[in-house]
Amino acid sequence: MIHIETNLSTIAVLAVEKQSENEAFGSFLQSVAHPEQIDTLVYSLNNTISSKVDCTTCGNCCKTLMINVTEEEADNLATHLQQTRAQFDSTCLEKGGSMMVINTMPCHFLSNQKCTVYDYRFAGCREFPALHLPNFTKRIFTTFMHYNRCPIIYNVVEQLKIEIGFIETVITEAYY
Ligand code: SF4
Ligand code: SF4
Repeated sequence: MIHIETNLSTIAVLAVEKQSENEAFGSFLQSVAHPEQIDTLVYSLNNTISSKVDCTTCGNCCKTLMINVTEEEADNLATHLQQTRAQFDSTCLEKGGSMMVINTMPCHFLSNQKCTVYDYRFAGCREFPALHLPNFTKRIFTTFMHYNRCPIIYNVVEQLKIEIGFIETVITEAYY
């Protein structure tokens, strides 16, 4: 039975405590001979763990991430909200060069931990926490950036350490 930690305060504390261990784990993952096997394990862990974590009681990604917005996404959401693009842009977006991001954290569209524009949410929202994507070992840096804020990432990483024997290796090297 997998223990799944969902308390955000506990995860934040554990993330600090595990910083060195996670740096070692990141280096270890980048050196594995068959990264596609890690992808397969991560997909499986993601399926198991994400089905046991209720995002509608968390919403921490929507409170803490900077969300990129494309022109097409802004057009679609402005239309859905019955706003002109000018209204939508001045209320919701910050622009810099060719980039546009949602201009508040938490996101404007989060209410009671739920997305009020779910069908119109942005690609970054749909993709996060991106554990269903290939090349996990090439995306370690980004994954660990979000390890302390997302219970799904935290638990997948911790279980991955156990399943590939990393924890045993660390304990053995540290104490024997
Ligand atoms: S658009 Fe919805 S899913 Fe995306 S950050 Fe905002 S509240 Fe979250
Ligand atoms: S994806 Fe992660 S951070 Fe976002 S709501 Fe779900 S568990 Fe929380």
